[in-house]
Amino acid sequence: MKQATGSKKKAIHLSAKILKLTGGLPFSAIYGGIGQILMFHRVLPSSDKPRLWSNAYLEVTPEYLEQIINYYKRLGYHFLSPDELYEMAQQGNLAKPFVIFTFDDGYRDNLTHAYPLLKKHKVPFAIYITTDFPDKKAVLWWYALEEKILSHDSISFNFNGQKYDLTAHTLEEKEKLYQQIHNLIQSTPVDEKARLFEALFTPEQLSAPLENVLSWEEIRDLAIDELVTIGAHTVSHQRLGMLPDKQARWEISQSINLIESRTWQKVKHFAYPFGDLQSFGQREINILKENNILTSTTTVSKNITRQALSSPLTLPRIAVGMSMTEDTLDLIRFGVIPMVRNKGRR
Ligand SMILES: [Zn+2]
Repeated sequence: MKQATGSKKKAIHLSAKILKLTGGLPFSAIYGGIGQILMFHRVLPSSDKPRLWSNAYLEVTPEYLEQIINYYKRLGYHFLSPDELYEMAQQGNLAKPFVIFTFDDGYRDNLTHAYPLLKKHKVPFAIYITTDFPDKKAVLWWYALEEKILSHDSISFNFNGQKYDLTAHTLEEKEKLYQQIHNLIQSTPVDEKARLFEALFTPEQLSAPLENVLSWEEIRDLAIDELVTIGAHTVSHQRLGMLPDKQARWEISQSINLIESRTWQKVKHFAYPFGDLQSFGQREINILKENNILTSTTTVSKNITRQALSSPLTLPRIAVGMSMTEDTLDLIRFGVIPMVRNKGRR
């Protein structure tokens, strides 16, 4: 795992220590907000297996997740569900400070490794499902690519009349090769991607990572627990803001309909795939309203202010990764890190 370097770590520790004396003032008054929505993806025990950072940064260990829960408990935070947040905001009667735990995409480890801990600590949480995951239609090429690069020192394939003979021996070289092929995949038009995947992977290599996603049955079992909110995260995880009207509308409403028909529960919460400023806009907000969605989360890295709560369909979220320490979490809740990340914008 990447860690903050020694001097950076010291600077973070010192700033956190000083700011704790003033409760984060003056920053907390402007950027601190009244709570946070945290974003996780996968929760997996650490292993000795080599990994590529590009995927591993989306993962935390169960022990780390528990540390985060205990951190907020110690500070006396209220653990809210998205429903509770929405209702309290409507009534103007918010339990604060608050924190909301959310998990994106629909990985099975959310059930096997995160759920037991969240249950033990009675922490409500949301999982936003990309419905192609449980429908087993998703192409989790980023894991197939990691596996292929880690298990091969050379990769050869033909695509669009070009022959690629690529080699990578060390972990550092493999990281670079991953980025190179990642960029090729990302820059390939949607209708040519299947051909590229065929050139790069065997069907088995491409479907293997689907073993790590939640099934509809598991999602239904989770949905029964009142601690769990099942939200929607589109059908095929594309950047909605880049799609034509009809397709954007279909991605949103079809994912909601599928989850409702499989869990027999209303879907009231949503997360925009990628969640950056290119992935949502007024059009997406309108479609969510038509679908009776109450809250939707982005990946804009800010705390929740009262002002943010007045736009519940574009709530900011803080991504959590293993490189974060308690000092980092302090600087996030005081608003210092969100202020830097957003160049001072509130
Ligand atoms: Zn996602």
